[in-house]
Amino acid sequence: MNILSNFQYHAPKTKAEVLELLADIGDRSKMLAGGTDLIIMLKEKMIETENIINIGDVEELAGIKFTDEGVEIGACTKIADIENSTELVKDYNALVHAAGELGSYQVRTMATLGGNISHSSPAGETPTPLAALNASVVIESKRGTRVVKAEDFILGNRKNVLEKDEMLTKFVIPAPAANSATVYGYIGLRNAMEIDAVNMAVNVELEADKKTVKSVKLVMGSVSPKPIVSEAVPALLVGKELNEDLVEKIGEAAMSEAKPISDIRASAEYRKDVVGALARRLTKEAYELAMEA
Ligand SMILES: Cc1cc2nc3c(=O)[nH]c(=O)nc-3n(C[C@H](O)[C@H](O)[C@H](O)COP(=O)(O)OP(=O)(O)OC[C@H]3O[C@@H](n4cnc5c(N)ncnc54)[C@H](O)[C@@H]3O)c2cc1C
Repeated sequence: MNILSNFQYHAPKTKAEVLELLADIGDRSKMLAGGTDLIIMLKEKMIETENIINIGDVEELAGIKFTDEGVEIGACTKIADIENSTELVKDYNALVHAAGELGSYQVRTMATLGGNISHSSPAGETPTPLAALNASVVIESKRGTRVVKAEDFILGNRKNVLEKDEMLTKFVIPAPAANSATVYGYIGLRNAMEIDAVNMAVNVELEADKKTVKSVKLVMGSVSPKPIVSEAVPALLVGKELNEDLVEKIGEAAMSEAKPISDIRASAEYRKDVVGALARRLTKEAYELAMEA
């Protein structure tokens, strides 16, 4: 029977109240944002908790705010608000694209950006674009604030750097560098509500000549317990102009770094092939967009 076990429900209205609760009962609590992962896990008895802290009604934790340095996105911002943001599309299209691919529209109107990375599923949609966009994650507790890079937040399957008294409060994403572009892509088994077999985001920054690669960041998801930031692809590409020979090598390099498993969604061999195909396609796409940026 899918009945939730007993827990105490807390409905703080401010971030300060949440941090106070976490300091008191964080070791015996789960935070509820949109609930699209948490409620399922509770119903399926995958987890139990004495306390639920609903952070979904804390207004100061949601919203998209542009700054001189880039953009700040509150942890409780709905995935649908990111998908529908006409302001984010221009400079942060990789994140907007990923947001639009998460689950169904009904799910996206409930699910939050903070919940997606905090759930720390290897197949999560948004951790790869966040890392490629050089996003930082702001973590707060009553003890203070710390900032970690998006790619360092997830430690493994459903494991992340958060301590029991900490919460993720916002994402800070810098404005894109000149002559740069970031793209996102994924491949799943079907075209509706599937969890990705592989997802990937690639950022390419060019020198002022708009041909030579200054930096490249290729991030793969669903091919290991946590997103992988490629080291081999920058080693191949930085200081060079992209050509077909390099595109092929990029595919091989990314495949050599992926550590996929076989599961119901795809075999490890298929996932490796997809990594190669996505790495070739997305790097080329990002390079061409950066030339026009
Ligand atoms: C039908 C369906 C389809 C889905 N498809 C996809 C998909 O295609 N891609 C994908 O990536 N996901 C998918 N999901 C999973 C889910 O929707 C996302 O992971 C979502 O972003 C989770 O956000 P949430 O606000 O609902 O998190 P919740 O369920 O509220 O929380 C998830 C976890 O994060 C913790 N948490 C939440 N917010 C914070 C915070 N600010 N600080 C610290 N901890 C926090 C919670 O305590 C909990 O452990 C799907 C889910 C469903 C039900």
